[in-house]
Amino acid sequence: LTSLHVMARVAPLDDRTMLVLVEDRTAARRVDETRRDFVANVSHELKTPIGAVTLLAETLEDAADSPDDVRRFARRLQIEGGRLSDLVRQIIDLSRLQSDDPLLDLNEVLVDDVITDAVDRNRVDADDRHVTLTVAGRSDLEVFGDQEQLTIAVCNLIENAIMYSERGARVAVAARAVAVGEEDFVEISVSDNGIGIPEDEVQRIFERFYRVDYARSRDNGGTGLGLSIVKHIAAAHGGYVHVWSKLGQGSTFTIRIPRHHEREAVDGPSAADQ
Ligand code: ADP
Repeated sequence: LTSLHVMARVAPLDDRTMLVLVEDRTAARRVDETRRDFVANVSHELKTPIGAVTLLAETLEDAADSPDDVRRFARRLQIEGGRLSDLVRQIIDLSRLQSDDPLLDLNEVLVDDVITDAVDRNRVDADDRHVTLTVAGRSDLEVFGDQEQLTIAVCNLIENAIMYSERGARVAVAARAVAVGEEDFVEISVSDNGIGIPEDEVQRIFERFYRVDYARSRDNGGTGLGLSIVKHIAAAHGGYVHVWSKLGQGSTFTIRIPRHHEREAVDGPSAADQ
């Protein structure tokens, strides 16, 4: 009992009987702690770009006589502003995805459209870093889901695959249908031959704000929220994310979405079943 957080209330019922109410508050306490940690993390993450924006704006004012400096500081101001808006957008996305109603816009979605769009959104970054992006697998697969959210999930995985690989690396995106037990899934995988993830940290990378290498991630514009968002998008579709990784060899992230799960939940039982 020592690890539990227990609340006890004692009330006399009559001369001979006491009523003792014992409530296990462990779960509630954990939720409170998680919420407190999240708020502390958000404040910490926001402080850095806000501080940078303020400082750059002041420096810009002093640099008014030098057009080169003005351009340089204005450019950095844009980068920090962009970082700030990415962070705020991801925090809002995450809290919506974690709520009881993640507001998914569900339709029959062609997986190929999701992959093509996610690849296109990363094309410039891939070219900048001379990363070869390839797409393989079935192009006729459909899944019942939110096209934009699924695209964001695949986009985040490709973005990471590029970010955590050396220049000239290869990133492969593939789609296939798999059956696990009775259930049919659509599987989208993103593989890289990049830096990989240490074995003892693999399980932690889906936590909000967790980064294996804080400095590298921040320098590359990472917020530490990307994988947490991927995890919640998969979960909101009744699916999950899996990662295989080996330090120095690369990583493969796999999203599995059940093909029929959400359709049944949304449509309810058919007329014939009622
Ligand atoms: P970030 O914005 O820092 O990329 P993510 O939530 O997307 O945040 O990822 C969390 C951490 O997991 C990253 O900081 C990085 O250390 C690690 N990571 C994610 N994807 C990969 C990958 N493909 N290869 C190696 N490490 C990765």
